[in-house]
Amino acid sequence: MKKVLKFLAFALVAAAVAGFSACNHRHRFVSVEERDPTCLTDGFRRMKCADCGEEKEETLYALGHEYSIYNVCTRCGYELEPTGKLAYLETEDGEAYNVALGSSTSKNIVIEAYHLGKPVVGILTEGFASLDTEEGTETPASLIESIEIPDGVVSIGDRAFYGCTSLTTLSLPRNSLKTIGDLAFRGCSALGSFNNVRGLESIGANAFARCESLTTLPDMPNLRKVGDFAFTECTKLTRAYLGGSLEALGKGAFYRCSLLQSAFLGRCASIGENTFGECGRLEEVVVPRELGKIDGAAFTDCTALKSIRYGGTMEEWKNLTKAADWFVTHLDPEEFVDYYVYCTDGTLDRNGVIAEPAGA
Ligand SMILES: [Zn+2]
Ligand SMILES: [Zn+2]
Repeated sequence: MKKVLKFLAFALVAAAVAGFSACNHRHRFVSVEERDPTCLTDGFRRMKCADCGEEKEETLYALGHEYSIYNVCTRCGYELEPTGKLAYLETEDGEAYNVALGSSTSKNIVIEAYHLGKPVVGILTEGFASLDTEEGTETPASLIESIEIPDGVVSIGDRAFYGCTSLTTLSLPRNSLKTIGDLAFRGCSALGSFNNVRGLESIGANAFARCESLTTLPDMPNLRKVGDFAFTECTKLTRAYLGGSLEALGKGAFYRCSLLQSAFLGRCASIGENTFGECGRLEEVVVPRELGKIDGAAFTDCTALKSIRYGGTMEEWKNLTKAADWFVTHLDPEEFVDYYVYCTDGTLDRNGVIAEPAGA
């Protein structure tokens, strides 16, 4: 619900991109209510324009636990109860550890924040992977149901949780995590959601491909880069809000997300081949003024598309580099529902003609 509001808020921001409100003044926002975040819960700051009373709210993201070397949070007292028999391997410089499943057969994995007095900073490549699950083979990793990765971990390696088909509860580091590697959660077919990750900057290629239960994405306010086919075939995903920091979105990122209805692309510079290919329910895409090009087949068969909300002017939209086949469909054009491009200074129909769409 909160994300819907964010979409609406963004549409308003896009409409007022020059900084002016409907009543032609620059807002002077002052804080009227604030709730501080805790280790695990988000806070907020509600602000109001001193002149016109318009309100906006921003999220103050959860801080994540701050662990001592004894795996106890120094802020709230929460104590990790780490799973035994995991394998902790020293990093090359010997200053920290990376972790893998080792000989554990536990279904509930809790990773130490500190191991033998040194911080745990990474999940090893294939560390918890079940690479055989596509043939239906049970492995200790394919039976894992929950994973708690403590704050302090900075990177999740390639294929780290590949094929963890029983995984339903995933707790990622809220603050410290920066990168998720290629194929890291590919085929985690029971995973419905995971927590907000304030620190995350990069998601690798195919990282969440075929996560067929994933319905929503969490807030990722610092996410800058999403790799090729990162969310392809997430067939339950309905909304993709990638946060205001997104700069690079890989090709095919949402290819065949058949229930996807809306997407918000931050400050994304280009929309690549097949990014929204075969997203037959996609109705709305919010794209920034920073967008420089749209590649061929980017929106193939997006037959439900109604609106592209663009952060630039009509002139800028017309000058944007678009491949000739950026939007193609196999439907008879007669049956085709038209889409409109909502720019900051007016609305264009799909032929680039200034339009007055019903219900704009
Ligand atoms: Zn105002
Ligand atoms: Zn805490």
